[in-house]
Amino acid sequence: MTVFFAVDVGGTSTKTALIDDKGTILDKQSFKTWRHIPLEDFNQGMVQALLDGMNAVGLQRRDIRGAGIGIAGFLDLNRGTVVEAINVGWNDVPFIALAQAALAMPVTIDNDANVAALGEAWIGAGSGARTALCVTVGTGIGGGIVMDGQLYRGVNGMAGEIGHLVVQRENGFLCNCGMHGCLETLASATAMVRLARAVQQRGEIPLDIVIDGAKVVVELAQQGNLAAQGVVREVAHWLGYGLSLAANTLNPDVIVIGGGVSTAGEIFLGPVRTAFLETALGRVAEAVEIRAAALGNDAGVVGAAALAAQRLE
Ligand SMILES: [Zn+2]
Repeated sequence: MTVFFAVDVGGTSTKTALIDDKGTILDKQSFKTWRHIPLEDFNQGMVQALLDGMNAVGLQRRDIRGAGIGIAGFLDLNRGTVVEAINVGWNDVPFIALAQAALAMPVTIDNDANVAALGEAWIGAGSGARTALCVTVGTGIGGGIVMDGQLYRGVNGMAGEIGHLVVQRENGFLCNCGMHGCLETLASATAMVRLARAVQQRGEIPLDIVIDGAKVVVELAQQGNLAAQGVVREVAHWLGYGLSLAANTLNPDVIVIGGGVSTAGEIFLGPVRTAFLETALGRVAEAVEIRAAALGNDAGVVGAAALAAQRLE
């Protein structure tokens, strides 16, 4: 049996899994992480999770063929460094060298959006696609492009950054990247919360409802609140527009939408498709199917295993 150690680094908790070469999750573990967690502590947590997982399923160290690790942030894959990972506070750290030393196995890394895209393209909603564009709608919007099973990274790993397409040139909101009017300032879960709070201030959503996440807004919309439905539609429209720009460039056969908001179903995906059709070229629109992600929270670890598996090919 060929098994990989998969790691999905998060700001408050890091998920790990042992996954075989068919994408089957044999075991899952997790350990606590925090902003500015020292790499030594992180590596210690990772090694413990690996040992716990191996014990749980009765595997030896030699059974594990490599590790794949997804990290939110900017990475330098040529040097094997994490340039900047805000949620864990790492700057210019030689991540691969230290992780390989701690785990005593080959380590492959990529950013979380690319890793999730690879997971969905491997055994999820993008399985079998020739060109899959996978976006994750969360605090921001991440994107990854998988062509014939391989990630397309661009010359320095920046391909697929659909969240930073500037779609609002005038009076756009400030984005984390420093620019204004990026797609993720208008079409992310964060944008949905901001818009809903503004609508609430106008009295169209009851003031006693605490809007602390996109989930609340989606639920209100599903319960028939017209103002919340308007907010969901507006966010979905921006996403559909952004996706059409990307699709006109890529001509994909599948677009996968993941992240918490994607679980809202047709109330969100319907207006995404409508807006997409308004600005996608006819032949581009004909060739593509927009689907909700299939792997949910497991996309990160499944993709990380795929990353490790591809290293062996
Ligand atoms: Zn941006």
